[in-house]
Amino acid sequence: MEHVTDCLIVGGGIAGVTAAAALAPHMDVTLLEAEANIGYHASGRSAAMFLRDYGNATVCDLNYASEAAHIEQGVLSPRSMVLLGRADDPFDADCAALKMTEVSVSQASHLLPIIDTHVVTRAALTHASTALDTDLALQAALRSARGNGATLRTQAPVISASHTGGRWTLATAKGQFTSKILVNAAGAWADTLAQFCSISPIGLTPYRRSMAQLPAPRGYDIKDWPFTLAAGDRWYAKPIGGRWCVSPSEEDPTHPHDAYSDDMTLAEGLARYEDMVTAPVTRLEGSWAGLRTFAPDRALVIGPDANEPSFFWLAGQGGYGFQTSPAAANLLASHILGSPTDLANRTVAALHPNRF
Ligand SMILES: Cc1cc2nc3c(=O)[nH]c(=O)nc-3n(C[C@H](O)[C@H](O)[C@H](O)COP(=O)(O)OP(=O)(O)OC[C@H]3O[C@@H](n4cnc5c(N)ncnc54)[C@H](O)[C@@H]3O)c2cc1C
Repeated sequence: MEHVTDCLIVGGGIAGVTAAAALAPHMDVTLLEAEANIGYHASGRSAAMFLRDYGNATVCDLNYASEAAHIEQGVLSPRSMVLLGRADDPFDADCAALKMTEVSVSQASHLLPIIDTHVVTRAALTHASTALDTDLALQAALRSARGNGATLRTQAPVISASHTGGRWTLATAKGQFTSKILVNAAGAWADTLAQFCSISPIGLTPYRRSMAQLPAPRGYDIKDWPFTLAAGDRWYAKPIGGRWCVSPSEEDPTHPHDAYSDDMTLAEGLARYEDMVTAPVTRLEGSWAGLRTFAPDRALVIGPDANEPSFFWLAGQGGYGFQTSPAAANLLASHILGSPTDLANRTVAALHPNRF
């Protein structure tokens, strides 16, 4: 059976779902997701932080432009951030990039009592950082999209595509779908989907990032512990669901797949973590990994394809897909609807697919 709609969105992660929410009030939208559940891939595996000053200048423009929408949705909650450095770590550069204030190591130890003060020589702190409730953000966008008439099809992997007579036709396990407009929000698979559509790939690379779930160190009450970063991307940690989750901060290039953590990478990352704390890792309660997919210049890719104006990219979210999602979806909608955007022209240009 053929399903006809105005706009097809491929990808049911935070990008595709927020795009559906932004477009559904204006046109008939159908979202196609390969998996049985929304947010199964990168969007179900994040560290769930909103850090205004994390990312390059273009990404930060999107972060700042997204903050009011996140606040309005009620997805942000305070979560202090601490940066730790040893003698030779690039502490000053990280501290400046994240707009943090240097404090004494003993001051940081009040927030994080397991800092090894013999090894950690410098610390910085900000209370301006926030955690982002990713489940709530996904569900709120989904509710809004559906409330405005969007249709969601899960277990509908797009397996082939054609563009004839000004219409896209996508073949899926759930039948054939056609539309005038196609949005590519396929995360790590965005270049693969483009190739199905005979569109030149951007050159996106998925990078694996893992998380180890540890029990609360020494039985501490960790719920208010800060999001903690070791300078130079040696590791980071955050309390999530009662566990102390430590990431090796790896960026291992890979191919699009259902990512899983690598034992050796976790072991090396946990050794770097143990080097800076007084509580040794006694037990691993679990782990996960996800793919952070970057364009070559590490800015998102948002807008019409350079050669096919009915094919829209919403890709390359990297490590910022949640925090940038409101502004990214709004920009995509402005491109499709021809409506104005609040973003500066230089930001729109720096995100446009035609920069490649
Ligand atoms: C460990 C880790 C920590 C992170 N921490 C943060 C953080 O603190 N803050 C933040 O903002 N971001 C963070 N991120 C990044 C964030 O999770 C991603 O940028 C974001 O989830 C990407 O969303 P997406 O919708 O583009 O991709 P995805 O969530 O991967 O969604 C893409 C979807 O497209 C579907 N798809 C692909 N091909 C097809 C096809 N042919 N047919 C149908 N469906 C298809 C896939 O099944 C998938 O569900 C983190 C990521 C990781 C891995």
